[in-house]
Amino acid sequence: MKIGVLALQGAFIEHQKSLIALGAETRQVRLPSDLEGLDGLIIPGGESTTIGKLATAYGLIEPLRQFATDKPTWGTCAGLIFLAKNIGIDSQPILGLMDITVNRNAFGRQIDSFEVDLPIKGLGEDPFHAVFIRAPSVTAVQGDVDVLSRLPDETIVAVREGHLLGTAFHPELTSDLRLHRYFYDMVEQNLP
Ligand code: GLN
Repeated sequence: MKIGVLALQGAFIEHQKSLIALGAETRQVRLPSDLEGLDGLIIPGGESTTIGKLATAYGLIEPLRQFATDKPTWGTCAGLIFLAKNIGIDSQPILGLMDITVNRNAFGRQIDSFEVDLPIKGLGEDPFHAVFIRAPSVTAVQGDVDVLSRLPDETIVAVREGHLLGTAFHPELTSDLRLHRYFYDMVEQNLP
């Protein structure tokens, strides 16, 4: 089982380290051919406009879209924006796969980074220490999207739609591997 990490820009090394800590095989993805033989993919946080521009330049948009159509894919922060169907900005290249509406930079400029302990559905009793950095929020969910976590004010910050997972925060910046384990299990369950 091999899990790729989109390595165009952003926090991809940290995701790889978390996957390696779980004993998973990983590969950095920069070109369409890097997707061959992967069983799952993480799209990291960073800057979604930059990730979109680089993905366009490297001919990755359509191959990524095809991959994430049936293989487990997890977007964190900018990666969540990249996976969403609706971000309210027509000119920005995105994959447009998850049935959610996302608001970029939802927490404004002044409080653009914060940390909070959150309960997350599927991770057990202990809250997860979530790091938000100029984070998006999920403002609406449609169809079969399952809400996994909300902030105390009810803002949605973690969602799952079948084989697609999205988190507005950065689990790769903490030593808690439970979300990586959760995704690893999703990938394992999806193996042919
Ligand atoms: N604000 C960034 C964007 O719009 C996301 C920030 C992040 O990934 N930490 O893409």
